[in-house]
Amino acid sequence: MTIEEIIKKAEVKLTLNDSDKERIMRAFEFAKAAHGVQKRKSGDLYIEHPLMVAYGVAEMGLDASAIVAALLHDVCEDTTCAPETLEKNFGKDVLFLVDGVTKLDKIRFHGTEREAENLRKMFLAIAEDIRVVLIKLMDRRHNMKTLSSLPPEKQKRIALETLELYAPLAYRLGIGEIKGQLEDLAFPYVYPKEHEWLIEQVKDPLVLRQKYAERLIPLVKKELEAENIHYRDVHGRGKHLFSLYKKLLKYEMDINKIFDLVAVRVVVGTIEECYGALGVVHKLWRPMPGLVKDYIALPKPNGYRSIHTTVFGPEGRVTEFQIRTEEMHIQAEQGIAAHWAYSESKSGNIYRERQTVFADKKQLEWVNQLRDWQKEFRNPDEFIESLKIDFFKNRIFVLTPKGDVIDLPEGATPVDFAYQVHTDIGNQAAGARVNAKMVPLDHELHNGDVIEVITQKNKKPSSDWLKFVKTAGAKKRIQVALRETREAIAFSRRGGQMVELRLAIKDRIGLLKDVSEIVADFKINMKSITSETKNRLYPLIVIHAPFKNKEQLEKMMVKMKNITGVEEVSYTFIN
Ligand code: MN
Repeated sequence: MTIEEIIKKAEVKLTLNDSDKERIMRAFEFAKAAHGVQKRKSGDLYIEHPLMVAYGVAEMGLDASAIVAALLHDVCEDTTCAPETLEKNFGKDVLFLVDGVTKLDKIRFHGTEREAENLRKMFLAIAEDIRVVLIKLMDRRHNMKTLSSLPPEKQKRIALETLELYAPLAYRLGIGEIKGQLEDLAFPYVYPKEHEWLIEQVKDPLVLRQKYAERLIPLVKKELEAENIHYRDVHGRGKHLFSLYKKLLKYEMDINKIFDLVAVRVVVGTIEECYGALGVVHKLWRPMPGLVKDYIALPKPNGYRSIHTTVFGPEGRVTEFQIRTEEMHIQAEQGIAAHWAYSESKSGNIYRERQTVFADKKQLEWVNQLRDWQKEFRNPDEFIESLKIDFFKNRIFVLTPKGDVIDLPEGATPVDFAYQVHTDIGNQAAGARVNAKMVPLDHELHNGDVIEVITQKNKKPSSDWLKFVKTAGAKKRIQVALRETREAIAFSRRGGQMVELRLAIKDRIGLLKDVSEIVADFKINMKSITSETKNRLYPLIVIHAPFKNKEQLEKMMVKMKNITGVEEVSYTFIN
């Protein structure tokens, strides 16, 4: 790989001025000098790695700063170089990007607390600048390609992390192609036996299917021309290996049941032509009922759009077609990177017209949603858990009676739906109708279902719901409602409830006196007051006292919080 090839690649998709080019050249020279004769485990000169990463970044159409940052991304980590030097030579923007990538390097996905902290940082970095994440994905892709030169334990860990963290991330960013590549690179390391088995299974069918698809293509082209539909491209596309493996798991490992082993992809100019092309395909061959999927009318949550249909082709073979516009095609391959710098072009060559326009806010909405969730969870394990539940699994779309689209994880129930619409609707849910039929509240929802929740005033959530809800949001709100109910009962039953108040404090003279005065003001008889200081940055004051009701307790909490030196107040019930 040479720096000239990278500049050439970048210029396919954006216009670089002289100072951009000079900056890229300078970054290359800087990185080359910094890494010197240092070698990768693979035996390559180290500089080969940043060059490959920069090439990927250029291929995605990111800007000159991102290319510069890709070239420099390992400079500070692996060699002695001060951040100030980077900033002085290449500017704040580049330092910021390199810094972001370096932070992501520290991520180890095992699910422990310390690692979750890093995960959080990673996601914050995404929200701040998507380029950081895209550089990191390219970095990971190249590291995966050279993984065989690392020791086996390392291979396994890195491959697993790629499968669990990076590939789902690429998917969520809508970069299907990169997701497929990352999974296929990780597959043999994580599931070596299964990989070997699959290669053996797939060898012949794949070749046969490929040939079959090639026979279909001229037939489709001819019919499209007859119908005056201007296609840009019709090609066969083989399924990625790991996604094939996952599909086989669902179909009793029977390769004959996989209809999209090789799919025929039809790329046309406009949305109208997509539906026109669908008509053409259905006129040629009978569609399989229930397998027409219109992701143009109802895009997937990651933004994927296309029409899929499965037909009984010639020789009785079942084949999948994927129909899309050129714009949809680029988005499917490049996801958020395409949005990031995409501006629509009338002239036909989309790439040439692209300017550095930042993705509009809506495209990045899920990133903000993620950041909000992250704030809601204090415990990092809980956060990872919620990512697993909500974020990385497949999503479904369902509709309200008014036709609003609600995005839920697979396996979600009417209760999840109700909480997604409004907390009150969730709390008061008494029953549900799906497609006008009454269903139990734990009924599994499917794509395209229309859901009406029947509410009842003063109805309370049941703890049974926790067993079947799929969204972290519903789970959390049910727990809050249940706790409130429990507390109300506890207060009413005994006309008083013993409570343990915990105050985290920055100690000062007179603080304890202020605290006890407030308790006295409420005319409450404290049972005990103690303090815990061991191993604590903020010592705790622990008070045991009886309260008449929740209002009284809450009022006191507010007063305590207002004392100078009290950092945090919490409570639990004790018997
Ligand atoms: Mn690297």
